[in-house]
Amino acid sequence: MAATDALSAGGLKAGLDALPLLPANRAPLATEYPWPAGQKAAMFLSFDVDAESAWTAKDPARYGELVTMSFGGYEARVGTPKLLQLLRELGLKATFFITGWSVEAHPAMCEAILKDGHEIGHHGFHHVMPQPGDPMLVEEVDRGLETLKRRLGVVPRGYRAPSGEFCEELRVLLKDRGLVYTSSFRDDVRPYRHLLADDTPGLVELPVTACYDDWLLGLSQRYSRHTLLTREQVLSIWTDELEEVRDWGGMVTTVLHPQCSGRPMRLKLLREFLQHTQALKDVWIATGAEIADHFIACEGNAA
Ligand SMILES: [Zn+2]
Repeated sequence: MAATDALSAGGLKAGLDALPLLPANRAPLATEYPWPAGQKAAMFLSFDVDAESAWTAKDPARYGELVTMSFGGYEARVGTPKLLQLLRELGLKATFFITGWSVEAHPAMCEAILKDGHEIGHHGFHHVMPQPGDPMLVEEVDRGLETLKRRLGVVPRGYRAPSGEFCEELRVLLKDRGLVYTSSFRDDVRPYRHLLADDTPGLVELPVTACYDDWLLGLSQRYSRHTLLTREQVLSIWTDELEEVRDWGGMVTTVLHPQCSGRPMRLKLLREFLQHTQALKDVWIATGAEIADHFIACEGNAA
């Protein structure tokens, strides 16, 4: 309901008055655990493989719009193979959050990711944004899990919320299904442990920021309101964020899509950014599972 409708219905004041006078996310502050092997900071290198499901989640009729679909189809045809080649050249392992639909539609692409030794994470089935009370919430999680297991033999440890939304029901559900970490929230520069509404511990969070989301920086077409930023602009944003976070001893998380960062000029700038990061020699470039495991080990040592 739009705010004006709520207001005219007299519901806005009642709704606001009913809000708890508490932070929406009540997780304790992140503990400043050291990074492994004397590293100053960490980079969670991650990709979101949505393929066509990025475009159909809100409107299945778009499946018939073949040029719109071709934006997503680029991932399997060109983008993901090129990214895999780059990661092999640089000797890096990453996490790929994949929708169940993409696994069904593009099994060879997903098998290639797995074969290269990368981590595969959960990204919903149809890429439906998880919102409070959403009737598809459970099915999106369970069908995604079932597909990853049946098609790839993968039991994912990590989850990234499609379209970057979350709710308490989802926090509880993911814990119940045995997931270990999420990478969806925007409220820190260090890993932290979620706290559920019933005061029990939730998953580990590996937080993200919009500044490493290439969808916002490098997709200039098809319903996108965003400008296509130049290589210099993107490198400036990415290196400034990395260098400051490195001084803080925190972590950065990339949210890259093969349909954006697998495009030629975007791949070139990603290569330069990763080479720059590697040249610093004290930034731990890791998968989500590696960072979550490190966090959990530190928690255990501190207990
Ligand atoms: Zn996505």
